Formats: sequence, C-alpha cells, structure tokens
Amino acid sequence: MSTLAERYAQVSSGIDDAIRTAGRGVGEVTTIIVTKFHPATLVRELHDLGARDFGENRHQEAQAKAADLAELDGARWHFIGQLQSKKTRQVLDYARVVHSIDRDSVVDALERATADGPEVDAFVQINLTDDPARGGAAPSAVAPLVERLAQLAHVRLRGVMAVAPLDEEPRRAFARLRGYSEAVVRVVPEASAISAGMSHDYAEALLEGATHLRIGSAITGNRPDHG
Ligand SMILES: *Cc1c(COP(=O)(O)O)cnc(C)c1O
Repeated sequence: MSTLAERYAQVSSGIDDAIRTAGRGVGEVTTIIVTKFHPATLVRELHDLGARDFGENRHQEAQAKAADLAELDGARWHFIGQLQSKKTRQVLDYARVVHSIDRDSVVDALERATADGPEVDAFVQINLTDDPARGGAAPSAVAPLVERLAQLAHVRLRGVMAVAPLDEEPRRAFARLRGYSEAVVRVVPEASAISAGMSHDYAEALLEGATHLRIGSAITGNRPDHG
C-alpha cells in the first residue's frame, strides 16, 4: 500500500511528464484533486502537501467539508457534480469554480445567485455520449448556453468541461471536445480552458489541450463506500 504523499508525488510527476510529452507548459495546467467521498482530513493532508484545488460533486458533502476546512489557506473548491438550481446560491458560498453548467435552468439560477456577486468561474459541461441521461449539454445546445453566460456580469466563462465516454477511445472523444472548445472561443475568446482528464485518461486529455485535470482515485486511493 502506498501512502497519500507517495501517490500525490507519483501522479504529479506523471502529469508533468505527460504535459511535456504533449509539448505543453506545466504552468498552463491546473490539477484539481477530486476528494468526493473522502473525509476532510484527507483534504487537509493534501493541502499540507501543497495541493490547493479540490473537486467535489455533491453539495451537502462539499458544504460540510468546506466549512470544516474554512481555515485552509488558499484552498479553492471546484464544484463538478450535477447542480440543482435551488442549491446554486449555497454552492457559491464555497465554490470558486463550477464545472457543470449544462442547462438553461442552471444558467437562470447562476444569474440570480450572482446578481450582487459573488464572482464565479464557469465551465459549460458537454455530453460526449449519445445518452442524454449522462451529464452535460448536447453539443448543439452549447452555443446558446455560452451566449447567455457571456452576458452575466459576475460569471467568468472559462471554457468547456467533459467526461470521456466509457465505450470510446478517450483521445478521440477529447479531440471532439477540442473542436467544441474552438467553437466556444470564436464567441468568447478568453473562454479557452478545457476541463478534461481523470485518473486514467489525463495523458490523452493533455494531448487534446486540457487545461484543468480532475484527478481522484489515482491520488486519493479508492473511494470509501457510499450508500
Ligand atoms: C469522480 C470524478 C472525477 C475523478 O475521477 P477519477 O477516475 O477518480 O480520477 C473527475 N470528474 C468528475 C466529474 C468526477 O465525478
């Protein structure tokens, strides 16, 4: 069994290698450690090791952890799960970045929640599968969401987010995502970020331009059971 510190060091150096292989710069890429289902103590340990960006996908769990860890210097919470409209305001109390904007109702909620601040960074999540039950907007629905988000005073549209389908070579799927990203950048030039790449496909994502990796189990170890 490896320790958390060993896995963090190993994965971080694997990511640095993959960034170089992709001909990219280490400074262009943010690694978000996905700490869902793990206790606040694990986040604190990662913070001691130098990590600053943490990802969570369930509001209640994230809210409790962020409250427990309010004293952590410079920690940034990224919300990466399905966003319920009525919880959006509460999510923005701790999350600096929301990666999962995929419907008009979420944009509506974001508009209301940020009317008088706070500021939030936003990614439009795109569904790379043919299954509408998976999270993310259909590619054809992305442009209208982007146009609306670009109008919101306190929302900074950063770019696109996606999860690779299970039944497709990840690089192919990420290449498609890069194409969607290029279309977004034509509308909002500064929204060039790509949130893609998890424990098992970050190298492929980096080859297709990922700027934000969301890495869970490779660093945290297996997630505890969740009921
Ligand atoms: C859990 C999760 C991850 C991390 O997955 P790993 O395979 O554990 O690296 C990344 N993105 C999203 C949206 C997730 O829900």
